[in-house]
Amino acid sequence: MGITKNKELIESAIKSLKDLTPEENIKITHVCGTHEMTASRFGIRSIIPENIDLIPGPGCPVCVCPSYEIDYAIQLAKQGKIITTFGDMFKVPASRQSLSEMKRLGADIRVVYSPLDSIEIAKRNPSKDVIFFAIGFETSAPMTGAALLSAPPENFFVLSAHRLTVPAMELLLKSEKKKTQGFICPGHVSVMIGTDAYTPFSKKYNMPCVITGFEAIDMLIGLVQIMKMIQNKEPKIINEYQRVVKPEGNTKALQILKEAFEIVDSSWRGIGIVKKSGLAISSQLENHDAKKVFDIVINETVDVQPGCKCPEVMLGNMLPNECKLFQKKCRPDNPIGPCMVSHEGTCAIFSRYGSTDMLKNLK
Ligand code: SF4
Repeated sequence: MGITKNKELIESAIKSLKDLTPEENIKITHVCGTHEMTASRFGIRSIIPENIDLIPGPGCPVCVCPSYEIDYAIQLAKQGKIITTFGDMFKVPASRQSLSEMKRLGADIRVVYSPLDSIEIAKRNPSKDVIFFAIGFETSAPMTGAALLSAPPENFFVLSAHRLTVPAMELLLKSEKKKTQGFICPGHVSVMIGTDAYTPFSKKYNMPCVITGFEAIDMLIGLVQIMKMIQNKEPKIINEYQRVVKPEGNTKALQILKEAFEIVDSSWRGIGIVKKSGLAISSQLENHDAKKVFDIVINETVDVQPGCKCPEVMLGNMLPNECKLFQKKCRPDNPIGPCMVSHEGTCAIFSRYGSTDMLKNLK
């Protein structure tokens, strides 16, 4: 799309938003680190009406992973096993250490781009156990599932910390201090789960939901659609990413998830157990389930370091600026909490793009 056309669309969306937004404060939430990057990078909060609070929720898979799971991977590494994981997880602080600190101490911990890389490492090291520490929402879980279903070598295992998106949205509604009146739903997750996955949620909570892509104009159109639904009192799901999101989602990926995993109650970092929010490896594949095969006991874990407000940031109840450690003791080069580590973490995004327009909007 040409720059002029895009500018026209943006101006038109901003005008529509001004016309549609009521006088009272409206809180709109998104649950995606990529959406937060778009919002922060393009200064969306500074161009929409002041009384729209556009709030980030728990959209960073690394941030929601409890210390217990990382401690578990660290204990496996201490036993001499090869641990592989995505780069985002590498530096996340756990109860006492991160995986990168363990690597500095001599553990064999490797960053990979896909679980298939881990399978290759397992094939090249037949005398060693190789554990893929799997994180992510429905975008990455099918890759892990496909690896598990591909008849991998006996020395390949998965430590699953996969989480699900819609339970995260439900968690927000149950924990937030100020009520969300509409959700911008993540385009990439929706490609996998489809618009139908949001239907029970939207109906149960009378919640306007708009699935959008990741350009600034996509988010603006999403906000316009939510405002229209609020004005007309017609909450439903609108798919503004039809070029890739289907009602039924990616049926092959969903079938893989069904065969490889079971939905279980899971812990979210500093927040606690969330019902039916995680993916455990199915019992047919338990020979590759690190949690079932290896006898690891974790007695005490620390999810939240003193002064860190990550749980409140993830629940949309607080902004990074309001944490006393933000950009003082806690910085991207010295992260205290997980939200400052991942490029999808809200605190890291705030540090990168600044945040003054955001603060103004939440007050
Ligand atoms: Fe946690 Fe650092 Fe964010 Fe504060 S600024 S909430 S310490 S990650």
